Amino acid sequence: MSVVTRFAPSPTGHLHLGHAYAALFAEKCARQANGRFLLRMEDIDSSRVRDEYYTAIREDLQWLGVRWDDELPTQLTRLDRYKEAIESLRSLSVLYPCFCTRKQIANELANLPSAPHGPDGAIYPGTCRNLTTSERAKKLNTASEDEVSWRLDMKRASDLAGELHWQDAERDDQIARPEQFGDIILVRKDIATSYHLSVTIDDADQGITLVTRGDDLFASTHIHRLLQALLKLPVPTWHHHRLVTDDHGQRLAKRDKARSLRELRDQGITPQEIRAQLGF
Ligand code: GLU
Repeated sequence: MSVVTRFAPSPTGHLHLGHAYAALFAEKCARQANGRFLLRMEDIDSSRVRDEYYTAIREDLQWLGVRWDDELPTQLTRLDRYKEAIESLRSLSVLYPCFCTRKQIANELANLPSAPHGPDGAIYPGTCRNLTTSERAKKLNTASEDEVSWRLDMKRASDLAGELHWQDAERDDQIARPEQFGDIILVRKDIATSYHLSVTIDDADQGITLVTRGDDLFASTHIHRLLQALLKLPVPTWHHHRLVTDDHGQRLAKRDKARSLRELRDQGITPQEIRAQLGF
């Protein structure tokens, strides 16, 4: 099978050295295998996405000497496809509507003797999973769309999928443990999808065979593996790579403007110097 990798930035800010590393890494994996390297803009965070960043990201990658073979459709153009997947999850009875606000969840958690935590923080206490059918129907009737998110009934979904594994380069065989996240949101209130759902479907539909991304997203793969099984999607392999850190050992974030590629370029640093610094 020929190798297809991708770099999937969100157009919510300028690229920094961490993105540069991820892009160069994905490109290198494809080139070494004589495969294909693709670019995909992940733009479902509507409140943070800005038009100018789509162009800026392409320009910065070009300046750095990254060459993608094709640009994939952005996520905002694929909402119909996500809808179809949501329907198929509904037909498996693994989704339920959640009407809780953040505040209600926080209050509920505060009242628990001990709140279990997963990789992303406190686990949803299951309030809306425990509604009766008639309570649920009533709430669905009165709530507007932006007051309802849809959660994965994690226990039911994991039971249905059975034991799952994945292959991660440089690591042993991984057993998927999505249960540690609890009932995650798959359909957000503000947009009818979520990072986990979109990224899993896109990678499958777009023929990505090797998902490369930073170690900060390693835990997400437990969830993606489960979604692949539920939606009967092809299973890629993964290569989670190291994160670029600043002088204090902190992971770079978009707000760390000093290290945006633009800033570095304006300071007179060359693409060659950046590539060398990152080990490419
Ligand atoms: N869009 C994500 C980001 O900007 C990356 C998604 C992925 O590689 O799975 O961090």
